[in-house]
Amino acid sequence: MSARLLNGKALALEVREELAFRSAQLTAAGERPPGLAVVLIGEDAASTIYVRHKLDACRQAGFHSVAHRLPAETTEQALLALVAELNADHSVDGILVQLPLPDQINETAVIEAIHPDKDVDGFHPYNVGRLAQRLPTMRPCTPAGIMTLLNEAKIPLRGHNAVVVGASNIVGRPMALELLLAGATITVCHRFTRDLERHVRAAEILVVAVGMPGLIRGEWIMPGAVVVDVGINRRPDGTIVGDVEFEEARKRASWISPVPGGVGPMTVAILLRNTLEARLARGH
Ligand code: NAD
Repeated sequence: MSARLLNGKALALEVREELAFRSAQLTAAGERPPGLAVVLIGEDAASTIYVRHKLDACRQAGFHSVAHRLPAETTEQALLALVAELNADHSVDGILVQLPLPDQINETAVIEAIHPDKDVDGFHPYNVGRLAQRLPTMRPCTPAGIMTLLNEAKIPLRGHNAVVVGASNIVGRPMALELLLAGATITVCHRFTRDLERHVRAAEILVVAVGMPGLIRGEWIMPGAVVVDVGINRRPDGTIVGDVEFEEARKRASWISPVPGGVGPMTVAILLRNTLEARLARGH
């Protein structure tokens, strides 16, 4: 068997076209387009690329976007002042502060300073708490993108065994909450998990978000499992790979997401979807 591909690149394009259409409807009616403010501190290479992709996607969808690029030595106080300004700015529906932040800035303080209605990354405790209580508001982008991919492929989740490897605030934990909300039975594995192989072998749905190439051996995949690889790892030759041994896993899985071209593009599409929803929720 060779797994079918969860083609995030193609689905993300479809989502973004739909968002561009809805944004054009707003402006055609003389209304304001959705607005996203992106804040980048310092010059981390990966963050710079992610921010560029997000801004390009906004432009292509006809959204209003503003980039705030601040030096690496920016103080927490200065960043909090900018967030307060953006919270009060009527043309801004969504605020994204690109993580990670330099050591002198407390990430939690910044995430909690963003107004939950403008928290298009879905990281504010209010939004995460709402998801935990089965009342989702702004959903974290990567897990929501994965749910969109799984739903599009009509993959049944209710009652199925789902294993999430990685328990970070931005991917693993909210991913487990999304799958739980969809009725799956959840196991979350992390750096202290004993016998990762045993858990992975029992997974009907497997989502891996660790950042270690080859962590998940292809032979561990249950025949017919659905495999979602969130990992982004740059090899010495410059190529990008995920956390799962793709070729081996593909022979056993029924569906698998490639890296690149799987989860990554969906994350950006959902960021835009969250921004449009934030815009519509504000009404004008
Ligand atoms: P993180 O470093 O914050 O978290 C990694 C998690 O992996 C932790 O919970 C840790 O306990 C767990 N872990 C570490 N070693 C492990 C092991 N040996 N076995 C099992 N679990 C282990 O990372 P993150 O921010 O969640 O990102 C994870 C990966 O996903 C990275 O490669 C990142 O680049 C990628 N990522 C991709 C997207 C996307 O849109 N495609 C978005 C965010 C992150």
